[in-house]
Amino acid sequence: MIVAGIDVGSRAAKAVVISNGSILSSVICDTGPESVKTSRAAMAEVLKGPGLSLDDIQYVVATGYGRVLVPFADENISEISCHARGINWYFPSVRTILDMGGQDCKAISCDGNGLVTNFIMNDKCAGGTGRFLEMIAEVLNTSLEEIGELSLSSRNAIPFNTICAVFAQSEAIAHFRKGVTKSDILAGLHEAIATRSLNLLKRVSIERDFSITGGIAKNSGMVAKLKEKVGLDPLLCEDPQIVGALGAALFAEERCNTSVQGMKIHYGYADGTGDYFITIDSGQCDGCGDCARVCPAAVLIVAREDGRHPKAELKEEARKNLAFLCPGFYSCSDTHKINCHSVCPKDAISHSW
Ligand code: SF4
Ligand code: SF4
Repeated sequence: MIVAGIDVGSRAAKAVVISNGSILSSVICDTGPESVKTSRAAMAEVLKGPGLSLDDIQYVVATGYGRVLVPFADENISEISCHARGINWYFPSVRTILDMGGQDCKAISCDGNGLVTNFIMNDKCAGGTGRFLEMIAEVLNTSLEEIGELSLSSRNAIPFNTICAVFAQSEAIAHFRKGVTKSDILAGLHEAIATRSLNLLKRVSIERDFSITGGIAKNSGMVAKLKEKVGLDPLLCEDPQIVGALGAALFAEERCNTSVQGMKIHYGYADGTGDYFITIDSGQCDGCGDCARVCPAAVLIVAREDGRHPKAELKEEARKNLAFLCPGFYSCSDTHKINCHSVCPKDAISHSW
């Protein structure tokens, strides 16, 4: 079975192809102005290595900022869930994740199965994100790849009172003009970002086995500062930037393995109101079809074309559009006395935010 995951982020698109739980190929490409084109290019690139075509891929899960704009995806899942699932593949003992991406930063708690138990996100301010560091690198006339190592050579880190993208950039320019070294400016900024990340982590609880994912986890200076602030050695995987795409691929594999008894399948999305999941416990579901009959949005179906016992599923065409079709369990219950959850005799459907 060959499946794929694609993570269309604000700064980079990542794609991973896996076969029976092993990575066949992975790529990281720059995100262009059009997410649809970017996703096609990233997928073409990741398939090139193992000599595959899209027809060889059984299921594709998209995640990331541009996940709803991946035309060939069978389903989209929030990057929070995908990062937790991806890191669990590398390090099953990890319970705390700091995902430092191109435009936001998230602290995530997960369980031993890679399921999210709590998360908090900072997406209000660009400070401390990949884009912010890119801006600082430009101001200091250096490359993004170099800033981590440069910060490590600092002897006298300049304290920054803010990492507000606008103020910190002006502060950095002012220090640079006064002759402060690049390494001292960068060390001060990394310190400020690490302090803010620590505060984010504290809000979800910090467990001993923690990991950093996202592009910034490749910045050695940032990792060193975080290690110092958190007081723990982070577990770092080979390429922390592909963890979201890997998690998406692992979800894709799970979807194809629905014959596994007792498997709980999560269909979901994340929007401004949070993460929403409809979970169907296929071990409990007896295929009666009541949920599909009462669903006002007609998103559910009970079918199996390969001769296996029918189970409730989300319709293929509804998977990409769940956010628009199902208003969420509470809204649905307000307007419809009967819904998928209330009619299920096996208590096989649940909803979570
Ligand atoms: S909550 Fe309502 S709209 Fe959503 S799947 Fe269930 S019955 Fe359908
Ligand atoms: S109502 Fe419950 S048992 Fe019946 S098909 Fe739907 S999920 Fe399965």
